[in-house]
Amino acid sequence: MPSKDLTSAYDAVGKVTLVGAGPGAVDLITLRGQKSLAEADTVIYDDLANIELLEFCPPEANRIYVGKRAGRRCTSQSEIGEILVKEARQNRRVVRLKGGDPLIFGRGGEEAQVLVEAGIPFEIVPGVTAAAAAGAVAGIPLTQRGYASAVVFVTGHECRGKSPETAVDWAALARTRATLCIYMGSRRLGAIASELVAGGLSGDTPVAVVTEATLPMQAVHLVTLDSAGELAAALVGKPALVIVGAVVNLAEILSQASARWEAQPA
Ligand code: SAH
Repeated sequence: MPSKDLTSAYDAVGKVTLVGAGPGAVDLITLRGQKSLAEADTVIYDDLANIELLEFCPPEANRIYVGKRAGRRCTSQSEIGEILVKEARQNRRVVRLKGGDPLIFGRGGEEAQVLVEAGIPFEIVPGVTAAAAAGAVAGIPLTQRGYASAVVFVTGHECRGKSPETAVDWAALARTRATLCIYMGSRRLGAIASELVAGGLSGDTPVAVVTEATLPMQAVHLVTLDSAGELAAALVGKPALVIVGAVVNLAEILSQASARWEAQPA
């Protein structure tokens, strides 16, 4: 029967799971992600996921690093796709570990497209994205009622050759009054802040820059659009999430309250 043949042909191929590793802290991966790692024959990882997560894999699992060496990406996106397909075709359970959530500025969609084209079954396990982590550690409720009714996840790093349709229109974003969560924005922070002010936001608009959220070295810098550019030098080499909007004003109140709570004797 054709349907049976199709099933057995499928069974001969492994499976790829694109797993969201979360923002940094090892215990912010989901239980489903942890289970996928525990069952993996091959795990493919880069610098955006915490390396300690590999300890959840069986010791005999094949570990393939596809990150950056000396700041240069040593494996191209198309090579990563080829590795995923090759490993799965050897009837392996393959985990592709991705920082944060695989589908938010994570190129997980492109990897999934390669798998669709190659006819390889895959699953996507969501993860805690950097914006959610940064809001939590800084005490910033991204959509507090009365402050913001929308939140935007936007990239501050515009790829070379990007078409005008996908280039970020900062002035349009300024008009939405939404909370802006800017990924990969530290290098262009000053320029972005100026574009938002030119687009109509006040220079006094509060800005939080959260570096290395949920990791021991995490830091929260509270500035304004007018002063944000001065921070850029301090951010070099650290993952930083920039939050712009009135909700940032709640940061001090909430983080002071949570610090008081932590300081209480057990
Ligand atoms: N898929 C990831 C984002 C990858 S893009 C996610 O869902 O979170 C990489 C960018 O994410 C970094 O440049 C930074 O802006 C942000 N980022 C990732 N981890 C972070 C962390 N622990 N603290 C602050 N920003 C982080």
